[in-house]
Amino acid sequence: MDLPLTDHPFLTDTAVPVTVIEGDGIGPEVIRAALRIAEAAGARLSIETMQAGARAFAGGVASGVPRETIDSIARTGLVLKGPLETPIGHGGKSANVTLRKLFETYANIRPVAELPGIAGPFAGRGIDFVVVRENVEDLYAGIEHMQTPNVAQCLKLVSRQGCGRIARLAFELARAQGRRSVHCATKANIMKLTEGMMQRAFQEVAPDFAEIRAEHILVDNCAHRMVVSPERFEVIVTTNMNGDILSDLAAGLVGGLGIAPSANVGAEVAMFEPVHGSAPDIAGQDRANPIAMIQATAMLLDHVGQGAAAAMREALRATLAEARWRTPDIAVAGQEPVGSAAFADAVIAHLRPVPVRAGAGVAALAFSHRTLPEARLAVRHMAGMDVFVESALPAQVLGQRLAAVAAETGFTLKMISNRGTQVFPHAGGHPDCVDHWRCRFVRRESVGEAADAEVFALVRRISEIARWMHLEKLTELDGAAGWTRAQGEAA
Ligand code: NAP
Repeated sequence: MDLPLTDHPFLTDTAVPVTVIEGDGIGPEVIRAALRIAEAAGARLSIETMQAGARAFAGGVASGVPRETIDSIARTGLVLKGPLETPIGHGGKSANVTLRKLFETYANIRPVAELPGIAGPFAGRGIDFVVVRENVEDLYAGIEHMQTPNVAQCLKLVSRQGCGRIARLAFELARAQGRRSVHCATKANIMKLTEGMMQRAFQEVAPDFAEIRAEHILVDNCAHRMVVSPERFEVIVTTNMNGDILSDLAAGLVGGLGIAPSANVGAEVAMFEPVHGSAPDIAGQDRANPIAMIQATAMLLDHVGQGAAAAMREALRATLAEARWRTPDIAVAGQEPVGSAAFADAVIAHLRPVPVRAGAGVAALAFSHRTLPEARLAVRHMAGMDVFVESALPAQVLGQRLAAVAAETGFTLKMISNRGTQVFPHAGGHPDCVDHWRCRFVRRESVGEAADAEVFALVRRISEIARWMHLEKLTELDGAAGWTRAQGEAA
């Protein structure tokens, strides 16, 4: 469907190709409402309607994203997307995650701004900030293993490149929007290497943006401050899981899921969507709030430099300024709510030409996608290895046996930890133990670098005592330990 071109004083002449995925549940109704408003505001979009989600899964597409949809996105580089259901059960993959990964949309951008007249405990506080969440790394890479019948592991992979580019994007966004501060929220006090990677990348990028105040904040404190003094934040940049939680909390501050829009941005593709899911309980009942989708559509139009975005936002604000226009989720007690379609009609009736502010359009979302230069390494030295084993033996027995085995090799058993706390040699306290042990072997000082054959020989000896399932080298990078110590472990 090509939207008709309208004579609008502030628009470009060319229609922009966009892939539209209506999605599941309330998706089609909110996306149609938003597109009606965009059309009335004079947006020039050439729409390719494509499928993904429940119908694709039902049609046998294992990823939930059919090939034609992928091809369309590769062509247009621009997506307006409704929510997609994730199949429940073992092995069911999220079509949303597939889309983010396929097109490396590494930045999830969620503006959090108060809208007029939306009731709530934070109304009137002037909340206006943006959460910039790293979108493709961290625990959400979904690399998980059952290491023993009782212990599951999820690998948290965080790269210097991934952190560098999201940190830079956050600063670029702050600069483009004239914001004065960027907070980086991490748990670097506990996860010094992974979350610490984000903190260090942030600090490395910050000097390129001297006019912007760069502040690191622990993510738990960030959550607290977001509730106590949310108006003090301008931009928050963070890792994937932190960002997932913080941005939903942020949405709750300004009126909830029905309102919050988001952008998933990469170097090749930008995808705009509401934060909410398919809300199957209200699908097809004309009860869904289209505001999140309207705001996501405005973000898309901003991205391609179409001034219709400003007109849509102004009309939305003017509509909400009249208390009678409230969908059920934001209606106050005793109020007769309006349906999704009637709300969209009201926004259309409030549309007025709005002069476009210089820099408000494409500049606001035009990013360099630059990251940090790769870390240069002069010397890499293997100082030992952690062997993860499953055993029902008590810690002291297991420790003595493994120490005896190691004594015949170039390694010594330094310690054993159970879920991160040293239990051999006994370091005090009485930590509970499960059947999963991390056994740390270090190189004797008198022997040189271990050859692989020596490593495998030790592992073979260990397997006569316990079942090993994971091996991790302890590597010094230019003399700095590339691992962290267990709780209670000596330096
Ligand atoms: P959800 O669809 O966001 O819905 C949770 C509840 O929030 C709804 O039951 C509804 O509450 C309310 N709600 C959400 N959007 C609303 C709107 N626009 N207007 C009014 N009320 C709205 O979350 P979920 O139930 O956890 O997830 C349902 C499905 O969506 C799952 O398959 C999930 O995987 C998927 N999902 C997709 C995305 C995405 O595509 N980006 C994001 C999240 C979830 P009431 O019960 O009060 O009406």
